[in-house]
Amino acid sequence: MNFELPGDLRDMQATIRDFMLTRVEPRAHEIEETNHVPEDLLREAAALGLFGLSIPEAYGGVGLGALGRCAVYEALGMGHMGFGGVISAHASIGTSGLVKLGTDDQKARFLPRMASGECVAGFAITEPSSGSDAANIRTRAEKRGDVYVLNGTKHYISNAPIAGLLTVIAVTDPARGSKGMSAFLVEPQSTPGVSIGKIDEKMGQKGALSAEVIFQDAVVPAANLLGPEHLGYREALGILTNGRVGIAARSTGAMQRLLDLSVAHAQAREQFGKPIAEFQAVQFMLAEMEIAVQTSRVLWQKVAWMVDQGQDVRRMASVAKYHATEALSQVADKAVQVAGGMGYMKDSPVERYYRDQRLLRIYEGTSEIQKLIIAGDLLR
Ligand SMILES: Cc1cc2nc3c(=O)[nH]c(=O)nc-3n(C[C@H](O)[C@H](O)[C@H](O)COP(=O)(O)OP(=O)(O)OC[C@H]3O[C@@H](n4cnc5c(N)ncnc54)[C@H](O)[C@@H]3O)c2cc1C
Repeated sequence: MNFELPGDLRDMQATIRDFMLTRVEPRAHEIEETNHVPEDLLREAAALGLFGLSIPEAYGGVGLGALGRCAVYEALGMGHMGFGGVISAHASIGTSGLVKLGTDDQKARFLPRMASGECVAGFAITEPSSGSDAANIRTRAEKRGDVYVLNGTKHYISNAPIAGLLTVIAVTDPARGSKGMSAFLVEPQSTPGVSIGKIDEKMGQKGALSAEVIFQDAVVPAANLLGPEHLGYREALGILTNGRVGIAARSTGAMQRLLDLSVAHAQAREQFGKPIAEFQAVQFMLAEMEIAVQTSRVLWQKVAWMVDQGQDVRRMASVAKYHATEALSQVADKAVQVAGGMGYMKDSPVERYYRDQRLLRIYEGTSEIQKLIIAGDLLR
């Protein structure tokens, strides 16, 4: 076994970490204040290949496998989580369905613009009445000649307000239950009948905008059906499975950053005439944070490797996501504790991470749903 990342992936990871720390972090205050990621930062991200991580080189992407993508996601976690959220919703769940299931024509139409960052992508399954129970969605796609007509409402859709392309899951045959779902490539900005609702006001991850997507007799060409008709719930959710490994990797990067900040603060801050790092209570918090980082890293690396071997990672992707996101919540809490009052102040990155990380235990399947998947697979 070799736990070293290959040299080219190590280099790319270092480049993205530097970008997050030296280019994005200094703009964090601006992103928090405006709830907007500046376009020049997105352009820099595109030039570094962040929008094309999972897109084959033939279509202008970087063509990384799961190990490479996750190495980059770990680096993304080292900086502003809202910024990382925009990139990961695009590069992960926004892109993977098209790369996996798309026809040559569909790939040629969309992937080059997605790789360049010109067309930002997202994925829409969640509805007001079906979140965890995603098999129960109601958005309907009816075939009429060579088009499908979509009606229904999705909500909490990441990147929707800026998206040029959404992978939308809708019901094509209600009689088949969860096997009667299909995926569609929808261009929200140019498809009549598609509108974006009010932008969500969130606790954290500022700049990563999410919103409702409303379909009212929206006409989507049959050429935009992604994968087979009635592809089914399991296949549709397969798009999310690989995303979960990426969330585990992002969480690991966030924990590493929080640990680095905490170690630096513990060494610099003096109380009772000595650095607080000399108090065993503080040392224990740092040690527990390091344990969380190391275990989460080994897990995402293993699951990413399994993806690259073509193995079924349904159970293990949930193990990795559950472990890393729950660990991150504890690490964020400890980071605030080590920082003391400063960790509660708005200008502290620790305060921001404390809010931003909370989402990771909810989206792409809550922690409870991850446990149901793990147990379901064990008992199958
Ligand atoms: C900021 C943000 C961005 C998002 N981005 C996207 C996106 O890009 N695309 C998309 O499609 N969706 C997106 N989502 C939706 C997200 O995936 C859902 O919010 C999530 O799956 C949970 O669904 P819910 O909010 O309806 O909660 P619910 O399903 O109502 O869950 C509420 C609680 O009940 C628990 N629960 C539910 N069922 C069970 C059960 N069977 N057993 C035990 N506990 C259970 C849950 O774990 C949770 O604790 C986003 C959400 C947010 C907040």
